[in-house]
Amino acid sequence: MGRTVIRNGTVVTNGLAGTLRADVAIEGRHIAEIGTVASRGGDAEVDATGCWVTPGLVQTHVHLCQTLFRGLAEDLDVMAWLDQWIWPLERLHTAETTAASARWGVAQLLLSGTTTVNTMETASHTDAAFEAAADLGARAFIGKALMDRREPGTALWGEETAAAWRDLEGLVAKWHGAADGRLHATVAPRAPSAATRELWSRALDLSRRLDLVVHTHVNENQGQARRVADANAARDVHYLHDLGALGPRSVLAHCVWLSRAERELMASTGASAAHCPSANLKLGSGIAPVPEMLQEGVNVSIGTDGAACNNSLDGFEELRMAALVHRPRRGAGVISAARALQMGTAGGARALGLRDQVGTLAAGRLADVVVAATPESADPADPAEFARAAVHLVFGGSDRRVDSVLVDGRLVVSRGELVHGSRSRIQAEALAARAQLLKAHGAAA
Ligand SMILES: [Zn+2]
Repeated sequence: MGRTVIRNGTVVTNGLAGTLRADVAIEGRHIAEIGTVASRGGDAEVDATGCWVTPGLVQTHVHLCQTLFRGLAEDLDVMAWLDQWIWPLERLHTAETTAASARWGVAQLLLSGTTTVNTMETASHTDAAFEAAADLGARAFIGKALMDRREPGTALWGEETAAAWRDLEGLVAKWHGAADGRLHATVAPRAPSAATRELWSRALDLSRRLDLVVHTHVNENQGQARRVADANAARDVHYLHDLGALGPRSVLAHCVWLSRAERELMASTGASAAHCPSANLKLGSGIAPVPEMLQEGVNVSIGTDGAACNNSLDGFEELRMAALVHRPRRGAGVISAARALQMGTAGGARALGLRDQVGTLAAGRLADVVVAATPESADPADPAEFARAAVHLVFGGSDRRVDSVLVDGRLVVSRGELVHGSRSRIQAEALAARAQLLKAHGAAA
């Protein structure tokens, strides 16, 4: 790989501070230099005139396998949504439909500025997500959903313990560290109580040996959280602590109904929250205590969750929601656009153990970069607008346009189109797979 120079953009080095007019020079996979004028040209150049240059978004909670389910399960609380639609549809997935779903999901993530995704897949066909991320050029943390125990209050069950373990071991051996280190296998029990203690223990041993991220859903719905707490005689975060599952590489999705003691446990162990405000509102789950978590020292990152409960995979739109949803309760100043951008970049990087590698732009970091425009980014003369970069990006709505995206120094989106795949073909394959799944779902009903 050669040298790429992103010319003449307004560079947002991280969400909270550091906006400057500069060129970004990339050598191989890393940022070599951010300067007023890059000392020499590149083999490739990206013209960022009139654009913001930001760290790629790091989304810490997504389900690529649910991309085809968008719009199929509406106006339901999370447990009905899961029991009536999402789990039956996941069970009908074939290797082909899972692949179409993952490709369509990764395409939408890259095209809207997400460079790293942490995704929980279903119980089978997890290879499809690795292949989609490898082919289209995303950085991805991918976990097969471990579900060898029927969680109290749900009809969900995936497979026998031995089969789940064999599949997980195989996936880790095949994919962890693949694609020049862009791909990471994770340990992803669907919920603390969705996996047996035996599977948890073996999976955690593996995660400690290989430093794998542990990804699970926690306290999303109040009624379900209560049922699980009663059955286990412990609330989710305490139960995870008892299993030995909490640490700086643990990513707990949702965290809507956390007790103060649970938040303290997350802060003291270094576990991160994946805040998914749109999905929490859409499924009527509630609003996570994010201002409290931040105050108490919990690292908070952001995810859209899957397309079946958002229904968008656009990370910038999720940052907008994260910046807005806490204001009625805690005041308009509680989470600024800059803070939301920081959670969606550096916060995500910290959650996934990539703190010194992605999520901020600096020499020596991996070159995961987004070049995006809003109407205000075209004003080169006014330094005051530089300082408002996060405001324009986070609240820009449909005026925001992602022009180019680089992952690992490699261009994966150029002029708003995928570089390593055809958006129209991926979409057509997704729609065909969706029709096939719907037909199977109708036949099964
Ligand atoms: Zn989820």
